[in-house]
Amino acid sequence: MASPEVEDIFADILERAKALDPANSRKWFDNLVVLHFDGGSLRIGCPDEATVQFLQENCKGSFIHAAQQITGHLVTLEFGVDAHAKIDSGDRRYQPGLKLHPDYTFDNFVVGPSNRLAHASCIAVSQSPGDTYNPLFIYGSSGLGKTHLLHAVCFEAQRRLNNAVIQFLNCEDFVNRFIRAIEEGNLSGFQSQFRTVDALIIDDVQFLREREHSQEEFFHTFNALYNNGKQIILSADSAPGKIPSLEERLISRFSWGLVTRIDSPSYETRVAIVQKKAHVRGLNISDEIAGYIAHKVQANIRELEGALTTIYAVATTTRHEIDLELAQTALDGQIEAGSKHISISDIAEVVTRHFDVRLADLQSKRRSQSITEPRQICMYLARNLTRHSLEEIGGHLGGRDHTTVMHACSKINKARDNDSKMNALLNELTKQITQAPQT
Ligand code: ADP
Ligand code: MG
Repeated sequence: MASPEVEDIFADILERAKALDPANSRKWFDNLVVLHFDGGSLRIGCPDEATVQFLQENCKGSFIHAAQQITGHLVTLEFGVDAHAKIDSGDRRYQPGLKLHPDYTFDNFVVGPSNRLAHASCIAVSQSPGDTYNPLFIYGSSGLGKTHLLHAVCFEAQRRLNNAVIQFLNCEDFVNRFIRAIEEGNLSGFQSQFRTVDALIIDDVQFLREREHSQEEFFHTFNALYNNGKQIILSADSAPGKIPSLEERLISRFSWGLVTRIDSPSYETRVAIVQKKAHVRGLNISDEIAGYIAHKVQANIRELEGALTTIYAVATTTRHEIDLELAQTALDGQIEAGSKHISISDIAEVVTRHFDVRLADLQSKRRSQSITEPRQICMYLARNLTRHSLEEIGGHLGGRDHTTVMHACSKINKARDNDSKMNALLNELTKQITQAPQT
């Protein structure tokens, strides 16, 4: 295991990575372990394949950036599964090839009147696939938790049944793989892949509409599994009979088991979801603030999360604790104006106005101090207030590469630590950006 010094450095790196990318920081980062660290290369042990995938896809940049800031060296980074990195909810078995989001577990799902039946049926089905509701069909508008529940079923079914083979995919992938199999003349390979599983879970089956050939194939897959007592779980944005141009025989089969709807969550459920999302990110949020967010964002849970992320980002950038005033400042203008997000242009506009320079100057090759500083501030704020990647931010500011943006962020970050005037300026700019009327 790593020495205490390395443990300390690693703890600092994690803290820094969380601050660099608040939207993707998670409480379970505390369970990560250092497997190897020699100054230039860092290998991090993760609880399971789902967390490895999450980190690879969302956090690699911020981790490298954090490691370089803390150590002052170029650092290469690798994530891998390791038994020492345990997750609180116990063992999570992992079937290779399943792509699951580590947040989408039953533990992290808030149950309320709007989703109680869907949740209960998913629990039942994950405990004994094929025996209770078959097929299970869940439908509801976008952002209400269908995909989350399907992932949770996969986690739970794998935990309970050692050797169960699960196929879980989005309907679009199913259709694409079917088309590819035909092109490659390997239909039998495709069929055996889908017809021999213990559970077939397909998300967003409304994608089958107007795809007659795929519907035909799906019909036979369905029959093969159903006749063998294998579990089928489907989700869609509307009830089977309301999916346009879905064949009658599929509509009838989709309705053989249990069809259950998820509705928009009530105020109380939304408050609980905000609390849960904050908890998963390792944040403490008062009831008052959770209530405020739940009041502001009503329709879609994805937007609730977005609001929480915005508040957290503003709190980190302004180094201010999360109180009601900050929450109001962060969300005002954003959500009321149709939940638009802050763009790099919004940021550039405020920065160029403040420094009295032109956007073209920021995008030019000029390196005088009067241009370099606003440009770096612009990069820093874009990194903290938007979800754009380093590459995108560099692209917007005159086609600069990601290392330039990384350097700018770390420089401004340091300046902010050491210079109270810089800190005040960044607070003021952030306030103007987050309050600016959205275009
Ligand atoms: P859908 O597939 O219905 O469009 P998702 O499953 O992708 O929706 O959910 C969107 C976001 O909302 C996800 O981050 C998910 O975790 C969250 N979410 C939805 N319902 C709940 C819930 N009841 N408890 C916790 N999070 C939820
Ligand atoms: Mg979905």
